[in-house]
Amino acid sequence: MRQETPVAPTIGVLDLQGGVVEHLEHLAALGIPARRVKLAKDFEGVAGLIIPGGESTTLSRLLQRDGLDREIEERFRAGLKLWGTCAGAILLAREVIGEAAFLGLMDISVQRNAFGSQLDSFNRTVDIPALHETSVPLTFIRAPKILSLGEGVSSLLQIDDYHAAAEDPKILVTVFHPELTPNLAFHRHFVRKCGIPVQDGGERSDDRWRANSWVSFAPIP
Ligand code: GLN
Repeated sequence: MRQETPVAPTIGVLDLQGGVVEHLEHLAALGIPARRVKLAKDFEGVAGLIIPGGESTTLSRLLQRDGLDREIEERFRAGLKLWGTCAGAILLAREVIGEAAFLGLMDISVQRNAFGSQLDSFNRTVDIPALHETSVPLTFIRAPKILSLGEGVSSLLQIDDYHAAAEDPKILVTVFHPELTPNLAFHRHFVRKCGIPVQDGGERSDDRWRANSWVSFAPIP
């Protein structure tokens, strides 16, 4: 009898635009098998898909062009977990204020570019005791705000008048970019959500990350 070789559960990173390499590096730091997802066949053995940040309109066009939007919806119905970072969160939202929603798989309402222009990007640190013992660095790049959560969606991080991270049983969304900091807490959380065991620890110190590094985006005189 022919035996199928079991495929180790893998995390996929949608490879159309945005912070693909950084997500793959974070998963590698956790020792988790990961792969780029560009075509329908790349979903084989993928337990969870990360939709990186980038530009949501561009990403939606590329997803449609390649038929990957349908593929994600079908795989999601069959159990695929999803994590949208920034533009990825916009694509997953059921409501995008003033615009048509795209995948609409998560009952949240988001407002794009809610902090202003690219120059209004910023870093900050927060405490998220449920996810990490020490404070967690966050990088916001022309980020959206999650303004409201539907039934079954819980907030992982509320700041001022918005939610910065939220989840339901199958989807995680963050309006910031954990892949652009040395912290692994959100990647570890998503990997566990996908049913893949992972150890604590593995954080790297990254001297390039600075809480005020977006200051360098000010126009050069
Ligand atoms: N501003 C982008 C959008 O609306 C998102 C930016 C990001 O992903 N960092 O699509």
